[in-house]
Amino acid sequence: MSLLAVRDLRVRYGKVVALEGVSLAVEEGEVVTLVGANGAGKSTLLRAVMGLVPVAAGAVEVAGAHTTGRRAHEMARLGIGYVPEGRGTLRTLSVRENMLLGASARMERNDARGAEAEMERVLERFPALRERAGQLAGTLSGGQQQMLVIARALMGRPRLLLLDEPSLGLAPIVARTIFATIAELRAQGVTVLLVEQNAQAALALASRGYVLEMGRIVLEGAGLLGDPRVRAAYLGEIAAG
Ligand code: ATP
Repeated sequence: MSLLAVRDLRVRYGKVVALEGVSLAVEEGEVVTLVGANGAGKSTLLRAVMGLVPVAAGAVEVAGAHTTGRRAHEMARLGIGYVPEGRGTLRTLSVRENMLLGASARMERNDARGAEAEMERVLERFPALRERAGQLAGTLSGGQQQMLVIARALMGRPRLLLLDEPSLGLAPIVARTIFATIAELRAQGVTVLLVEQNAQAALALASRGYVLEMGRIVLEGAGLLGDPRVRAAYLGEIAAG
């Protein structure tokens, strides 16, 4: 049974069909990458899984349980961590305070000590954040802010992490540190569905990938990085033949 299964999904914004007949699966322990051009529907897919946009047809299942139509906070309770595009740190709160927002389930149970322990565990992976734990999030660099939103999502110990364009707007050298972080998460067994425009780096990390074009999956598999159609369309190479 897949950890995440999306079946025949359709999402519309008014008359615009953003996704049509989209099916994909993520197995426990995998990093799966979804690539595609601007406007292909990648963010919409993550938002639909997370219950942030209504689903017009099709189904979302988490570990075999039907979750279509569940709201985002319910999906978070089911162990789905979501890092939307564009960072979204609270700039006037400290790194520490931003991270505690990711432990809302524990805080609701008044388990502040558990939340602090969780923060220590997560900060072990992010030494740059540990050094800046008391600093306001707004003073961090773009790369550090991206680390922070990933760290915040990890505070809930997600079974599956949805990452939307984590490298967007970062200098290449900084983007590389983000991809290295995702590789570390993979090594630790965290399951990730990664949406990226940087197809090269994202597919290199992933066990499998999907290509989305105009709301439909047009290619999928384990060897996408070597696929001439992917290389031509997304890696800027001239197609052979
Ligand atoms: P990007 O990388 O630019 O975010 P994407 O692949 O994530 O692109 P989506 O943002 O999912 O694509 O958009 C898919 C389609 O849905 C596009 O045609 C977009 O214009 C449209 N769309 C997205 N959000 C809305 C909205 N809130 N209202 C109307 N149309 C939308």
